Amino acid sequence: MKVLKFGGTSVGTPQRMKDVVKLISDGEQKIVVLSAMSGTTNSLLEICDYLYKKNPEGAYEVINSMEKKYKKHIAELYTTDEYKTITLEFIKQEFDYLRSFAKGIFTMFEEKIIVGQGEIISTNMVANYMAEQGYNSCLIPALEFMRTDKNGEPDLEYISKKLKVQLEENPDKEIYITQGFICRNAYGEVDNLQRGGSDYTASLIGAAIGASEIQIWTDIDGMHNNDPRFVDKTSPIGHLHFEEAAELAYFGAKILHPTCVQPAKFAGIPVKLLNTMAPEAPGTVISNETEKNKIKAVAAKDNITAIRITSSRMLLAYGFLRKVFDIFESYKTSIDMVCTAEVGVSVSIDNTNHLSAIVDELKKFGHVEVDKDMCIICVVGDLDPDNVGFEAQATNALAGIPVRMISYGGSNHNISFLIHESDKKKALQSLSDHLFNNK
Ligand code: ASP
Ligand code: MG
Repeated sequence: MKVLKFGGTSVGTPQRMKDVVKLISDGEQKIVVLSAMSGTTNSLLEICDYLYKKNPEGAYEVINSMEKKYKKHIAELYTTDEYKTITLEFIKQEFDYLRSFAKGIFTMFEEKIIVGQGEIISTNMVANYMAEQGYNSCLIPALEFMRTDKNGEPDLEYISKKLKVQLEENPDKEIYITQGFICRNAYGEVDNLQRGGSDYTASLIGAAIGASEIQIWTDIDGMHNNDPRFVDKTSPIGHLHFEEAAELAYFGAKILHPTCVQPAKFAGIPVKLLNTMAPEAPGTVISNETEKNKIKAVAAKDNITAIRITSSRMLLAYGFLRKVFDIFESYKTSIDMVCTAEVGVSVSIDNTNHLSAIVDELKKFGHVEVDKDMCIICVVGDLDPDNVGFEAQATNALAGIPVRMISYGGSNHNISFLIHESDKKKALQSLSDHLFNNK
């Protein structure tokens, strides 16, 4: 069975919902994960914000304008009076429920319930539409099977067991619709998988049922080999290894939630990124296979600070790096890149909340220099140490640009360069020209 996930823009209007329904009904059995209609989760958070501030009027205003919008959607989505009435009644109950939170205390628990309503609404709308149009589909509630454990991590065993029950209770359906994002915690309370968590839901469901494939549908034709905002002529990548995708996601390719791929990766299930606007396009396949001898993509991460600590005491000494890293750890500041020499070490960080305290402490160990407004350029692909020439190609492309750090060998999939943010556009363009466009 396949798992298909559609994000907020893919279900953002009644027409888009109809398009999704057309796309998913090909006779194959599948589980379909939906996000809230785009903008809804933000509005729900705004309601919570007013309620935290004890301003029910503010909350009512947002609720009323949302309700008005949803009523319009219903008028557009359904053709029969029967389903218009059923869904209007459902929407009325939903918004009355939201209004009920304006009375009484408001805490994190209530907030979690409110932010999850967007997915409850969108899935009910689509499920009702499919019922109206006579599709063989049903809604399976995520809150019946999606669950995290006491550490806040998804409880895959529980998810697998309870999801099976839901599927068995509704046998012979072609399409099972469910909510992304929402779950229960270990105590049974309503919770969620963090913003953008619907991708994670799809990946978890895929792993739980041993799906043949997980499809993430958005409105872009897969992952691109460079950032189209800064570079002309980028193209979609046909295939990526899970680790390449994780690197790219971390370094700024906004298309996939980095934790999302984890369950699929461990279960060995390929993830396909597809485009609702161009369903025939091949998109990007992410799997545990490496495409040999190929550099795949380039991404950049801004707002990086580089710190260099030099000390002759480091020469032939052991324990120096530990002392340096301990300081970062005590300020809960994670390090992205590390480069060492006999008499010094350079690291890069992106969280500068504790920069001055960290620098103060580092000064006990050596001379400290800080460079701000730096940028990490990450090149991913088959960068296995046994392959010759690929690092050189990447380095050559940056020949005209001052490079502050180079990191290679940490994985088989990546080489990273630290440069000044002001050189970013030039660096990205030059990498594209050299690596992908044969210039
Ligand atoms: N609706 C949630 C959000 O906006 C989850 C998702 O769309 O993935 O963050
Ligand atoms: Mg998303």
